[in-house]
Amino acid sequence: MTSPPSPALLQALADLLGPKGFTTDAEIMAPWLTDWRGKYHGAAPAMLSPSTTEEVSAIVRLCAGERVALVPQGGNSGMVGGATPDASGSQLLLSLRRMNRVRSIDRDARIAVAEAGVILENFHNTALAEGLRFPLTLGGKGSATIGGLVSTNAGGTQVLRHGTMRTLVAGVEAVLPDGSIFDGLAPLKKDNRGYDLRHLLCGAEGTLGVVTAASLRLVPANAARQTAWVGLASPDDALVLLRRLDAALGGALEGFEIIPHSCVAAVLRHIPQTRHPLAEPQAWYALVELAGDDRDELGALIEAELSAALDSGLVRDVALAQSERESEDFWRIRDAISEAERAEGPALQHDVSVPVELMPRFIAESPARLAGVFPGIRALSFGHLGDGNIHHHVQPPADTDGAAWLAAHGAAASRLVYAHVIELGGSISAEHGIGQMKRDILAELDSPARLAALRAIKAGLDPLGLFNPGKLID
Ligand SMILES: Cc1cc2nc3c(=O)[nH]c(=O)nc-3n(C[C@H](O)[C@H](O)[C@H](O)COP(=O)(O)OP(=O)(O)OC[C@H]3O[C@@H](n4cnc5c(N)ncnc54)[C@H](O)[C@@H]3O)c2cc1C
Repeated sequence: MTSPPSPALLQALADLLGPKGFTTDAEIMAPWLTDWRGKYHGAAPAMLSPSTTEEVSAIVRLCAGERVALVPQGGNSGMVGGATPDASGSQLLLSLRRMNRVRSIDRDARIAVAEAGVILENFHNTALAEGLRFPLTLGGKGSATIGGLVSTNAGGTQVLRHGTMRTLVAGVEAVLPDGSIFDGLAPLKKDNRGYDLRHLLCGAEGTLGVVTAASLRLVPANAARQTAWVGLASPDDALVLLRRLDAALGGALEGFEIIPHSCVAAVLRHIPQTRHPLAEPQAWYALVELAGDDRDELGALIEAELSAALDSGLVRDVALAQSERESEDFWRIRDAISEAERAEGPALQHDVSVPVELMPRFIAESPARLAGVFPGIRALSFGHLGDGNIHHHVQPPADTDGAAWLAAHGAAASRLVYAHVIELGGSISAEHGIGQMKRDILAELDSPARLAALRAIKAGLDPLGLFNPGKLID
């Protein structure tokens, strides 16, 4: 059982952190008490913003003394309400945003040590200045932080080639629930001392430790990339194309996203300065990216493959980016889908995965299953086909009050989607995590053996339940 902080504890925290690191100002805290999607609203007696690992450790020790809960937060761009405190007003918000130094970059070893609050986009730029690249990117890169990315084991659009955050994290520094500092930053390729704390902390959503820094693997900066926007008739055709490109281009294939026309139409409606890459709309699109040393060489490679696919009728139309600017424009459409969907009105968002070869089946079957139970419901899928990971959004029937419909039927509609995913051997959370949004459905649908293991790990490391209570597991 956790408690609200006493006035004495708040004073001790204020003394420890100084005016830059401690606030109770409601206006300053307001943006950080609602999640990015605006679904969850919390309250907190104070926001703590430490600037060093030692300060985080001191905060945790002080709070443990009074059994006060802490909610770690980075850029607050998470999609499952994981960084939002509950509404009780007793949990302290622990913002890592002031810990925003890149401590080191070893160019030869291609390893950087970045603090938890470093924003992904800034980290990309820092690596690029050294001739290196951090090969993980996502639509929220302007706010998402290294600590949040580690703690959600974030994915994004380059997982096909480079893996998720777990693959890219070579070491972690974190403060554990008893206040001790776990220094696991050494980027060891081999380390068989039993359970891997680094892997446990990746994806732990702030429930096992406060990540204060990470050692991250970098790759050489690409001299070039080539991006193609491909029109297709169906996800089945997209999968055939993906397999062909993968076989023909191997390591050069870095991204393969699929997008239905309805998503592109929403982006064109709501996001300024976007334009359709093709002359005629198609039912589906694939956004394909190759990365390598020579732009012309990459262009020749992809042109040859896509021309053959056009000739065989697999592909309906193709636009090849003619410049870096045009590549950016293509990606802007993909990255703006979440924002455009949000502007379209309330919807249920599902971030799910199934084995790659079953993805077209899921995309085809799910809307029909949902409409069978909820006539008029609309479902659309977009995302990372190559990873078997689709963002599956369900919109209420057009002629209803969307918010009221979701309040009445949303949970049942989501349960249908998740049951379908599990039937196909998939996961109810591919990359966004569990947070508070999926906690109950995880407890309901996950295997008893897995749930018992998760609960045992949580109880073992955080016996007082002080780190991010109410998230991930109960
Ligand atoms: C437009 C848009 C597109 C996105 N696309 C993708 C995508 O393609 N793939 C993807 O994986 N995600 C995506 N996301 C989700 C989001 O960007 C990621 O989940 C990101 O990792 C969150 O980082 P953050 O710093 O904002 O974390 P927050 O939202 O602040 O926190 C997320 C979780 O991590 C915990 N946490 C944060 N910092 C720490 C820390 N230092 N120590 C311990 N726990 C911590 C929080 O308690 C919370 O549980 C997208 C978001 C947006 C807005």
